[in-house]
Amino acid sequence: MHNPFENAMAQLDKVTEVTKGAKFSSEFLMCLREPDRDIRISIPVKMDDGSLKIFEGYRVEYNNALGPYKGGIRYHHDTEINEVKALAFWMALKCAVAGIPMGGGKGGITVDPKVLSKSELEKLSRGWVQKLSDILGPHKDVPAPDVNTTPEIMAWMSDEFEKITGDKTRATFTGKPIGQGGSEGRGPATGLGGFYVFDSLRAQIGLPEKCTVAIQGFGNVGSNAAKIFTDHGHTVIAISDSKGGIYKADGIDIDKLTEHKKNTGSLASFEASQTITNEELLETECDLLVPAAFENVVTDQNANKLRAKAILELANGPITPEADEILFKKGIPVVPDILANSGGVTVSYFEWDQNLKGEHWSEQEVFEKLQPLMHTASQNVFQKAKENNTYLRMGAFILALERIQEKL
Ligand code: NAD
Repeated sequence: MHNPFENAMAQLDKVTEVTKGAKFSSEFLMCLREPDRDIRISIPVKMDDGSLKIFEGYRVEYNNALGPYKGGIRYHHDTEINEVKALAFWMALKCAVAGIPMGGGKGGITVDPKVLSKSELEKLSRGWVQKLSDILGPHKDVPAPDVNTTPEIMAWMSDEFEKITGDKTRATFTGKPIGQGGSEGRGPATGLGGFYVFDSLRAQIGLPEKCTVAIQGFGNVGSNAAKIFTDHGHTVIAISDSKGGIYKADGIDIDKLTEHKKNTGSLASFEASQTITNEELLETECDLLVPAAFENVVTDQNANKLRAKAILELANGPITPEADEILFKKGIPVVPDILANSGGVTVSYFEWDQNLKGEHWSEQEVFEKLQPLMHTASQNVFQKAKENNTYLRMGAFILALERIQEKL
């Protein structure tokens, strides 16, 4: 089992190695080895059958040098404190790379939300806010959705926060439904931002104008990315979700696949496609591999088997530090998560900004603001990697750490 927080700290250690200890003070790096605070809570929920169940929840506030803590809330049966700490650390760096005035935080609940009824889920979500309302707020800590948390859940949380505190700005939770203070374009933002990053770096990382793409994950991020890449003329040849995947050499029709999954609950048996496992998906021969599901899917066990020409990390932490080294030696460029998936938090920041200003921007306006930010961030990261003679992940880390150090 890989501990995601140990992976994150190994990445931080690598920065010292790459910069030969010359760029960042050891005191600064030491401070970044622990979050400002990590909070564990217990949330009692009266279940539909009348029994009481206690759930474990978390909020990690990692660093707020650049602005209020910002980061999603994950509902998953494997979620635990080390995962949340790692995700919060990456959020701090991600906001810095994207150039937005936000710090890093993350939250979660250890739960499989699929086994809860809607009313149990609502009570659990409101319970998370009741336990944490003191530390949340538009200028303190601004949560958002992540794996298995939806706009509806954000609306419950935002409503609960308003009930407890009287704050009517609705700027404490982002990723809300449009009618309840949400931003246009938040749904596809991570996939679209990832596409803008890819588009900005495509030629520099040696990819052709039209690429074949394999995507792991068909949730919010993976399904939007699949649609956007296809709409821009690329060919998505493989897709998977938690139940397995499909392969179709001449390209998958994403609208039809979405419909098929809605009707059957799975990707399997989609028209003229071949069934593949998640392991096979990662090893598919393609121009671009897009992990968009979970952390630690590319490890030292399978990195040597990968046949993609480049990787765009839309999931957080999908590649372990050992696998990173193997891919670097193999000459497979990796566009790192803290750059590649920063479109999500950037549009979350737009939502917060709109809420505080009492504005509502059109989808076109949101995308027109997102695209240049993603392009600038991509080129800054590329430049930093080049200057320091290292790979893109380290370029992104160096850029982020410089910005955070400057503010401390
Ligand atoms: P989601 O819950 O909407 O979708 C997750 C997808 O992963 C689903 O298709 C699920 O079936 C699949 N999956 C689950 N377990 C799997 C497994 N073992 N193997 C293969 N597939 C599996 O979540 P999401 O919001 O799309 O997030 C996906 C990743 O992107 C996460 O790492 C998340 O932290 C990251 N991310 C999300 C956002 C966002 O805006 N939602 C922003 C930045 C980063």
